[in-house]
Amino acid sequence: MLPDNVPADLAQPTHAGPLATAQTQLAGAIERLGYDAGMHAMLATPRREINVAIPLRRDDGRTELFHGFRVQHNVSRGPGKGGLRFHPSVDVDEVRALAMWMTWKCAVVELPYGGAKGGVAIDPRLYSQGELERVTRRYTSEIMPMIGPERDIMAPDIGTDAQTMAWVMDTYSVNKGYTIPGVVTGKPLEVGGSLGRATATSRGVVHASRAAIGEAGLELSDVRVAIQGFGKVGSNAAVFFAEGGARVEAVSDEYGGVHRSGGLDVPRLMDHVRDTGSVVDFDGGDPIDNAALLTLDVDVLVPAAVEGVISSQNAADVKARWVVEAANGPTTAKADAALAERGTVVVPDILANAGGVIVSYFEWVQAQQAYWWTEVEIEQRLEERMLHAYSAVAEISRREKVSLRDGALLLSVQRVAGAHRTRGLYP
Ligand code: NAD
Repeated sequence: MLPDNVPADLAQPTHAGPLATAQTQLAGAIERLGYDAGMHAMLATPRREINVAIPLRRDDGRTELFHGFRVQHNVSRGPGKGGLRFHPSVDVDEVRALAMWMTWKCAVVELPYGGAKGGVAIDPRLYSQGELERVTRRYTSEIMPMIGPERDIMAPDIGTDAQTMAWVMDTYSVNKGYTIPGVVTGKPLEVGGSLGRATATSRGVVHASRAAIGEAGLELSDVRVAIQGFGKVGSNAAVFFAEGGARVEAVSDEYGGVHRSGGLDVPRLMDHVRDTGSVVDFDGGDPIDNAALLTLDVDVLVPAAVEGVISSQNAADVKARWVVEAANGPTTAKADAALAERGTVVVPDILANAGGVIVSYFEWVQAQQAYWWTEVEIEQRLEERMLHAYSAVAEISRREKVSLRDGALLLSVQRVAGAHRTRGLYP
């Protein structure tokens, strides 16, 4: 039981959506760890938030206004770390949830960071590069006091990319008067990016999948995979799964999907996406919609798009034995319980997609030292960290007889709470 004095909205959030999922997960870990209401409140509440209005001068001269957010959920183990999302459905609660997951993710893979996230409610597909540059620069200048290589470090997320990070870095650097590459990660190589960063999340997803199926004595060549979301993470995951010998039988994006029993020709699919901007109409398979992809008869399901796609509505129909969460928060708390009951192994987001933040950390370390590692060094260190974190989580899950998600949360919440206790309260 939770202590009586835990505020009701922390113990049982009434709102739906990713924040409810994140708070329910935390409440479960707090209960299991026996922490008091004060620690629960500290871990449930963001340290700092900023809410900014971003006026944009459109190319045609009109002015449009957007809302942006940056949330630092926790900075007890180091500077805030987390992506910047451009998506029309961004709101402060989503950013809060994503920031909280970043705290646990950095702790579970032992990076010296807290958790943060940013977002702008904009559909980037509807704006020119020049307009996106102006939005990014204005957003950066509005949140300037909160960010920096020792305060809060941004990275790409849905709807943003290496170019966006270059604009953030340039805006920040010009305002400070000198070049400060460490304020962002995931930036282009020519301005201090790291080899291997662009594909790190996807590589990590495949390392985590290999570790998970390995517990059942299987290898990549034994499994059929379906991937929802064919953006930066999903597309590269498809490439690495296929290179590892897995059969990637279905993929989708927001416009639709494609399916082929026996496996899609991933290199040819990548060419199609490069030419057309979508997996739809690829001639090497049959059309499939997003809902059907999630319940396909495959071994490994990789949600790599948005939150909440596996819910109580479809969890009972998920046939995959493993769900490897490349996306953040793709499984609602109720669906998670339903999957656990059916014996589906869920490799949780905070572990499965940590490859991106691991190589972001490597990029930040390299930028701080102005000394660059080789791609081989980066790939080796990424794999070591992913497999080490997987083993630690699997070990605690076995010991406590809980799911991998609960194991990962126990480990990370303990680490963050430990940092709070050791630092003490000021004043
Ligand atoms: P992206 O913008 O490059 O790609 C998103 C993909 O999802 C696109 O193919 C898009 O068409 C698809 N999509 C969007 N809405 C959809 C819907 N409703 N149904 C089906 N498909 C949909 O973004 P990304 O960087 O690949 O991020 C994907 C997920 O991975 C997000 O949850 C993100 O937070 C998470 N993640 C990303 C990184 C990273 O390094 N980029 C790191 C960790 C976690």
